[in-house]
Amino acid sequence: MDEILQAIEAEASGDDIANLAVPAGYRAAAVHKDETAMFEGLATGEKDPSRSLHVEEVPTPELAPDEAYVAVMASSINFNTVWTSIFEPLPTFAFLERLGRESRWGRRHDQPYHVVGSDASGVVVRVGSAVRNWKPGDRVTVHCNFVDDQDPSAHDDSMLAVNQRIWGFESNFGGLADLALVKANQLMPKPAHLSWEEAAVNALCNSTSYRMLASRHGAAMKQGDVVFIWGATGGLGGYAVQYVLNGGGIPVGVVSSPEKAKLLNDLGCEHVIDRKEKGYRFWSDDHTQDESEWRRLGRDVRSLVGEDPHIVFEHPGRQTMGASVFICGRGGTVVTCAATSGYMIEYDNRHLWMKLKSIKSSHFANYKEAWEANRLVARGMIQPVLSAVYPLQEVGEATAQVQHNRHEGKIGVLCLAPREGMGIDDPELRERVGEDRITLFRRS
Ligand code: NDP
Repeated sequence: MDEILQAIEAEASGDDIANLAVPAGYRAAAVHKDETAMFEGLATGEKDPSRSLHVEEVPTPELAPDEAYVAVMASSINFNTVWTSIFEPLPTFAFLERLGRESRWGRRHDQPYHVVGSDASGVVVRVGSAVRNWKPGDRVTVHCNFVDDQDPSAHDDSMLAVNQRIWGFESNFGGLADLALVKANQLMPKPAHLSWEEAAVNALCNSTSYRMLASRHGAAMKQGDVVFIWGATGGLGGYAVQYVLNGGGIPVGVVSSPEKAKLLNDLGCEHVIDRKEKGYRFWSDDHTQDESEWRRLGRDVRSLVGEDPHIVFEHPGRQTMGASVFICGRGGTVVTCAATSGYMIEYDNRHLWMKLKSIKSSHFANYKEAWEANRLVARGMIQPVLSAVYPLQEVGEATAQVQHNRHEGKIGVLCLAPREGMGIDDPELRERVGEDRITLFRRS
């Protein structure tokens, strides 16, 4: 990969990059199939991603006609990297086996190792014979919707495709590596004013928040909507707050420390609840929820904004869903894409039907939505929420930060990029957007 990196650094032409040999193997972060039982008997929080994620050389897979190799300059940690590395709720090798049974090209993914990672920024180094819109030398970001576009079910909303997958989680050869194998329809232009690591962290969380709030497939937020956002300085939440502010809504952000509360204020979110300071106990024991605590949260929201939320942005799951359904206003929408604290959910259905509320499910984003979300980043209207950067060699430690909620926003990972701050192609736009806004989440 050294030659490819040198060519990228020298801004070599696409033709020159296309003439470079693609190496037979590359450096990647992977979990191993024969280690999926390594954490048996341990509590979730004791399962250490540094033990299961190996940074090692893997063979380069064959390129299919509709695919591209991307030299990955930077990537990011997503919560799915946490799930894969602790083998919860189940090892991801079952996904790879299923994909392996689908086709000749699917078979490449069924390996005894799983290269993880669902975000990337980098440079296209080779395209398959059927790729029309991209060429070697293109500077790109990668979104993670992995869809077979020859299947008719993919042609209304591709998130409804029967074989829709998340790249680098339910497929192999993901972004936490020096090279990535992607379908051409995962590629998007890299925002020119951002560095590689700033450009790498957005696609998964930004697109998900876009669909949940701005798309007609999600809660379709309108001007003036009060939007209650759990984890408002987290990966999803940091973008969600920006969508609400951009769209003329009123965000109420929940965080768990005074530092995060300040960060939220700096982002422009006036109404903040520190859940730790408030000490809500929605569950009095493992089986019983306490409605009086839901009411207390509801009162806190009303005292801040004078009304109930039109939309609740939900992802913590079991711990919070009862409260989310309760505090959502009459006719409002709880939009959910995850269940970090547990997926067996309990809420009081009376509060849902008597007040005509809806629960709307959402999952990543189709290509169009991801493209629109990327376009907003590229125009400087949505900012990256990058807080810290690790080298690929320390991917286990970076993943543990997210696992233990010791981070804000997103953690970036340098793959081929030898240092931070590289890859900025449009310094004038960067200046217009403002360094302070672009780097708001960065820890000093
Ligand atoms: P982060 O860890 O970056 O942020 C989540 C935030 O939620 C935390 O920082 C924390 O904020 C808050 N939180 C965590 N647990 C609780 C809890 N029990 N009660 C209340 N708040 C809690 O993760 P992401 O935002 O990247 O992802 C969140 C979830 O969404 C994950 O499960 C992830 O797998 C899923 N996801 C799903 C996607 C999809 O397409 N379906 C796409 C992206 C993510 P604080 O402590 O400050 O309150």
